[in-house]
Amino acid sequence: MDTAGDTEADVVVVGSGFGGSVAAHQLAEGGLSVVVLERGRPYPPGSFPRTPAGMARNFWDPSEGLYGMFDIWSFRGLEGVVSSGLGGGSLIYANVLLRKDEKWFVHESPLPGGGYENWPIGRGDLEPHYERVERMLGGTPYPYRDTPKTAAMEEAADRLGLDVSRPPLAVTFAARPGGEPVPGAPIPEPAYGNLHGLPRETCRLTGECDLGCNLGAKNTLDHTYLSAARHHGADIRTGCEVRGFAALPGGGYEVRYVVHDPAREGHRTATGRLPLRRIRCRRLVLAAGAFGSTFLLLRNRAGLPGLSTALGTRFSGNGDLLGLVLDARAGAAGTAPRRLASSTGPVITSAIRVGDALDGDGSTGRGYYVEDAGYPAFVAWLAEAAQVSGGVRRTAGFGLDRLRSRFGLGSGPRSDISGRLARLLGPGAFSDAALPLLGMGRDVPDGRMGLRRGYLDVDWTTLTSRRYFERVRATMADVAGALGGSFHDNPLWWARRVITVHPLGGAPMGRHPGEGVCDAHGEVFGHPGLYVLDGAVLPGPVGANPSLTIAAFADRACRRILEEHAARPASATAGTAPAGVVAAGAPGGTTSGGTALADHGPAAATGQRATSLSFTEEMKGYVSLGVTDPEEGRELGRAQGRRMMFRLTITADDVDRFVADPRHRAGAVGHVECDVLGGRLPVEAGWFNLFTRDGDPTRRRMLYRLHLRDPGGTPLTLVGRKEVHDDPGLDVWSDTSTLYVRVLAGHVPEGGDAEATVLGAGVLVILAADFARQLTTFETSGPDPARAFEGFGRLFLGELWGVYGARFAPGGESP
Ligand SMILES: Cc1cc2nc3c(=O)[nH]c(=O)nc-3n(C[C@H](O)[C@H](O)[C@H](O)COP(=O)(O)OP(=O)(O)OC[C@H]3O[C@@H](n4cnc5c(N)ncnc54)[C@H](O)[C@@H]3O)c2cc1C
Ligand code: SF4
Repeated sequence: MDTAGDTEADVVVVGSGFGGSVAAHQLAEGGLSVVVLERGRPYPPGSFPRTPAGMARNFWDPSEGLYGMFDIWSFRGLEGVVSSGLGGGSLIYANVLLRKDEKWFVHESPLPGGGYENWPIGRGDLEPHYERVERMLGGTPYPYRDTPKTAAMEEAADRLGLDVSRPPLAVTFAARPGGEPVPGAPIPEPAYGNLHGLPRETCRLTGECDLGCNLGAKNTLDHTYLSAARHHGADIRTGCEVRGFAALPGGGYEVRYVVHDPAREGHRTATGRLPLRRIRCRRLVLAAGAFGSTFLLLRNRAGLPGLSTALGTRFSGNGDLLGLVLDARAGAAGTAPRRLASSTGPVITSAIRVGDALDGDGSTGRGYYVEDAGYPAFVAWLAEAAQVSGGVRRTAGFGLDRLRSRFGLGSGPRSDISGRLARLLGPGAFSDAALPLLGMGRDVPDGRMGLRRGYLDVDWTTLTSRRYFERVRATMADVAGALGGSFHDNPLWWARRVITVHPLGGAPMGRHPGEGVCDAHGEVFGHPGLYVLDGAVLPGPVGANPSLTIAAFADRACRRILEEHAARPASATAGTAPAGVVAAGAPGGTTSGGTALADHGPAAATGQRATSLSFTEEMKGYVSLGVTDPEEGRELGRAQGRRMMFRLTITADDVDRFVADPRHRAGAVGHVECDVLGGRLPVEAGWFNLFTRDGDPTRRRMLYRLHLRDPGGTPLTLVGRKEVHDDPGLDVWSDTSTLYVRVLAGHVPEGGDAEATVLGAGVLVILAADFARQLTTFETSGPDPARAFEGFGRLFLGELWGVYGARFAPGGESP
């Protein structure tokens, strides 16, 4: 059962990656009660899978019974890799902590297709926070001098006259700060303890950083910030996936989440039906990553009136490009294979920096980094196995040799076959002379994130960044050449696609709501206490590896939160639920229409079975949030491509009663599909009135009232009306096929519209083809279908005649 502590906090932090962990620690240390909700699970040292079976299950998709670490996305122009687990991206990242170059904080840098990239903060704003994060994460340049791939990168950069460095890595190499590096030495526990309660060891150079470090040598966020946050009282909950949130009237937020059960691994789960839990907070920090936080904002947009139209903009993959050096050669003539041994050492150990026109030092184009990207030893085995021709030749040779020996042919009965086995395995030269390279830099942040049928969609391609990517490829080819090898694109590039491990943007900061979703401290414009403190808030590429900048930004934002809190201490208890918000399990709002549906009509009174009639209607159109006038909503929605459709089955349970009732009320079930409302929203309760009168004999109305709930659990009402009125000209078709709709906050009962908050408006129409289909959907059930059709038809045509018939009467206006 929930206690007050379970359901209320000063701050709820969604996600435990770089932004979320820093925020949790800073705010808990500052004395606020903090709850962290992380969807993934904890990974203590030793728990990262390595077997093929374990790796095959190591993906995140609870609906498919997968509760693992890798969360892979595929969009039009790119693939994206992010992590799910306690510590977010730090679990699988390559530990590089680089600061964003001072001159790369651009101002009003134009983007192709309109708009611009603008950073409302500069390097100076982040500098003290960079230092604090580096200290906490133990940033140390790679200390070993004899690692082949690192030496090769340094040598290649020297030959090419490029700037190369060993960036700080968040890895423990020595048993004490400043000491000699020693592989496999115990790491002393910090004063704040470790939330896993397990020993850690210094780096053994296994190259497995991107799969999770089983030694605990990586100073990941669970070992550092999250352990410290817990030490300061933060309540860290794993397996908790946030679905939605809503502002409370007295200030603060209600957060809705579901709890996953990893014991269901391997079993499909209807995750949409998991019960929603709730927690209230004064401040809400979204730190679910660029994909996660933007997705949450897009899905909950209806409950956040006035949210900037910059939502979804400024997406960038931070210029990520993967390339490959193969067949590196050594010696003056370049004849001998060059040992690069890419599986020795942490994944990244060095970074070549290529300048930017902004640097003002004669460099041209957009700047970037090229880093060595190592891999685990088993990948080298896979690479060798993939060398089919060599492998087949060697295997055949080995088999022949054994046959000869068995039958006493050839060199005699030799029982020591070590040498032959070594020949069977081959020289391993292919993988030994190969080195993946990871490029990243200032690509063009003109991607747009949105919803497509409720799923996250990213519209970004390499097209506008083509010159940038060509330059990165050229440098990679130069590095390959300097190592006597050849450069190879990763196969995705053949289709001009990239894989990004650094998605950024979607809820960018800006100077005002016209420019960004959040201010320069990550607070969402118009929504006090709601923050975005992760990669989503960055308004463009970092250029370098971004996690340090994300963490420093969160550190700076939390400083301001704590200052504000000290100036205006707020109670932990957030406001009461807004009108219309219905608690889970409570009856769905006031349902005056619903009771009418349960009325006992004439048929019930006489004990006879009633005849029902139903038909299915589909309407489509455009809506826009932030407007109250349907016509305006349609125009704006059309311009922005914001579509809405519904498919409703309207049922009059008892046609006699339906005809006799002056409100002609029927029930409506089905769904509304609208990406600005979060995707597909099932109708929880719906009512339809065929023709109602409002005192004007020349007017009838068809009314719709649908109680919906967005994917985050926020209740909404769609109200619609068709105005049937005899205006000049023959307008009977347009009157009966045009629905003016408004979206209201909460589940609003009949009679409550005037007081309700209007979130948006628009116009839906029935297309001729849909109408033709609608005519085929009429069905009846019960003892007297003919009478039901007749009654309904008479009512329909009779009412139309009442409105339009006058014009056909002698002396009426001719059509
Ligand atoms: C293979 C790889 C190597 C990398 N190497 C480096 C590197 O060397 N240096 C560097 O700077 N960067 C690196 N990165 C990138 C770095 O990991 C990300 O930039 C960083 O993690 C982003 O931080 P974040 O706070 O935005 O989000 P994340 O770290 O992605 O954290 C988001 C968290 O939110 C959780 N979450 C998402 N949705 C919900 C929800 N609805 N409810 C609850 N929880 C939710 C996720 O499970 C996750 O834990 C690498 C990434 C990868 C994949
Ligand atoms: S190289 Fe191996 S031991 Fe070192 S940090 Fe990476 S995974 Fe851990």
